Amino acid sequence: MAIEFWKNKQLSEMSDEEWESLCDGCARCCLLKLENEDTSELFFTNVSCHLLNIEECRCKDYENRKFLVPECLLVKNMALSEYQWLPETCAYRLLSEDKTLPDWHPLISGDKNSVKQVGVTVDGFAVSEDFIHPEQLEDHVINLPLPDE
Ligand code: SF4
Ligand code: SF4
Repeated sequence: MAIEFWKNKQLSEMSDEEWESLCDGCARCCLLKLENEDTSELFFTNVSCHLLNIEECRCKDYENRKFLVPECLLVKNMALSEYQWLPETCAYRLLSEDKTLPDWHPLISGDKNSVKQVGVTVDGFAVSEDFIHPEQLEDHVINLPLPDE
């Protein structure tokens, strides 16, 4: 990969390897969201998709995720206008908004663990939808924790 490729390339110009390296593994995109039908405002919950291994912040069936969970966000197939469905800390969203990667991003820190260390991974606060009744989802709306400084 070219050094600091994210500063010199559009998302659409990146190689597969570069694209994948942007994902920080936080799993925030695997949290269920609610949308206000009148205003289109989005609300994140602390409830995660049933296919997420919360402890490891990994999909249990990455290859078949779209088949098993039709609403799964495949970022590469999303239009830029749909990036609002991604958390504000997500590297794809940040770059699409002409922002820089934060210091804790693995491409900057050189350490995958830095994402967890600043509290961006969901393992510290997520609960699986396996344990939540759909009618209780509204009770789980949260402001996603800001990264620790
Ligand atoms: S929110 Fe963005 S950076 Fe985090 S896991 Fe999802 S795609 Fe990757
Ligand atoms: S299917 Fe996998 S990648 Fe998609 S939201 Fe669920 S856990 Fe995340």
